[in-house]
Amino acid sequence: MVAFPLSHRTAAILLLSSLFAFPGLRLGAQSRPYVLVVSMDAFRWDYPERYGATNILRFGQEGVRAHALRPCFPSKTFPNHYTLATGLVPARHGIVNNSFHDPLSGRDYRISDRAAVMDGTFYGGEPIWATAENQGVRSACFYWVGSEAAINGVSPTYWKKYQHDFPYDQRIDTVVHWFSLPSARRPHLVMLYFDQPDGVGHDHGPEHPETGQVVRQLDSLFGRLLEAMQGLAVADSLNIILLSDHGMGPIHPDQSLRLDSILDTTWVVRAKGGNPVFNLEVRDGFEDSVMFRLERTPHLLAWRQGEGPDHLRYSEHPRLLDVTVLADSAWSIHWGEPSGYSAATHGFDPANKDMHAIFMAKGPAFRQGLIIPSFENVYVYDIMLYVLRLKTDDYVLSVMFRNKYRT
Ligand code: AMP
Ligand code: ZN
Ligand code: ZN
Repeated sequence: MVAFPLSHRTAAILLLSSLFAFPGLRLGAQSRPYVLVVSMDAFRWDYPERYGATNILRFGQEGVRAHALRPCFPSKTFPNHYTLATGLVPARHGIVNNSFHDPLSGRDYRISDRAAVMDGTFYGGEPIWATAENQGVRSACFYWVGSEAAINGVSPTYWKKYQHDFPYDQRIDTVVHWFSLPSARRPHLVMLYFDQPDGVGHDHGPEHPETGQVVRQLDSLFGRLLEAMQGLAVADSLNIILLSDHGMGPIHPDQSLRLDSILDTTWVVRAKGGNPVFNLEVRDGFEDSVMFRLERTPHLLAWRQGEGPDHLRYSEHPRLLDVTVLADSAWSIHWGEPSGYSAATHGFDPANKDMHAIFMAKGPAFRQGLIIPSFENVYVYDIMLYVLRLKTDDYVLSVMFRNKYRT
């Protein structure tokens, strides 16, 4: 018998195809479904049980739930939200860190730099809202990373400028409004972002009562969101996905290293990124010196452009600069004086279970009461594509879609 080894990707997509209810029927002539994707930043995989998040637990039990959603490296907010949107790893889509330098344009990208965040030229790949808009399907984003930029000239039909303190209830009201618009103006895809429990997790740690309290507040909010969605005319064709970008792991003040002490600062032209992942541009002729020092420092992993560990898929991209440095889990690295103490962080190797996120989905497209193993967040794009019945020229997906939606 000839064995046909499945690629990792094919195997993952087969696993994901088990998520869907009545896959044959979805090819019928029904109208296009609706999808709401909700992201809660740094909602770790074990928070629902740990903190008794009853609405979220019930939602996961009634729909489908993955044991965990594995983030990409680095397990940071911007790289992972943009991976969720595009299905590409950071070294492919180009948002390689929360802050980075682009040597080709000579420009810096930073979360807090509005002009950079809104500049479409930083963003590679095609986010799901652009895939939808390009096929005449309206989309809306309430703060998803990348949605404030016109990427290849395409923006969601509805989007908002990021305002960190904008009340959560009013975000939900806006989503209700979008789904209540007349059908010609109504988005089929809505993506909604909440910045907690990231902040509380950093401040207090993932296993602190304060974090539990914020998780339960988010759970009530999610309960209210579900109730509001049930009242919509589109309720019967609405699929809701609840996910997060990464988890949160404890760090310790006595496990902290200063890169600017380990290295001679004259060897380094710039250090970009943040604890626990930095991208270093090294002065010509000093790369061996930098590597020599870093390789002999315990609790660090360093690699040159093109030489990263396979499993991180973070080896080659001009924005990785010359050398990438990663701290061991629970360790911290800084360039200069740390700006403040945190009890926990993320960004570590996704093999660390503390970095794992959540994935749950419920609605007519999904099976009910199904638990599946952990999977990588690069496949969330494919799930959205499938549920929204968007066309793809991807071979594996087109087979799964029975060629009907092949371009
Ligand atoms: P981090 O924990 O460093 O990976 O980043 C989390 C922070 O990113 C959150 O506290 C948010 O305030 C911020 N953030 C998330 N989305 C956006 C956005 N679209 N624009 C600006 N800041 C954002
Ligand atoms: Zn995050
Ligand atoms: Zn964070």
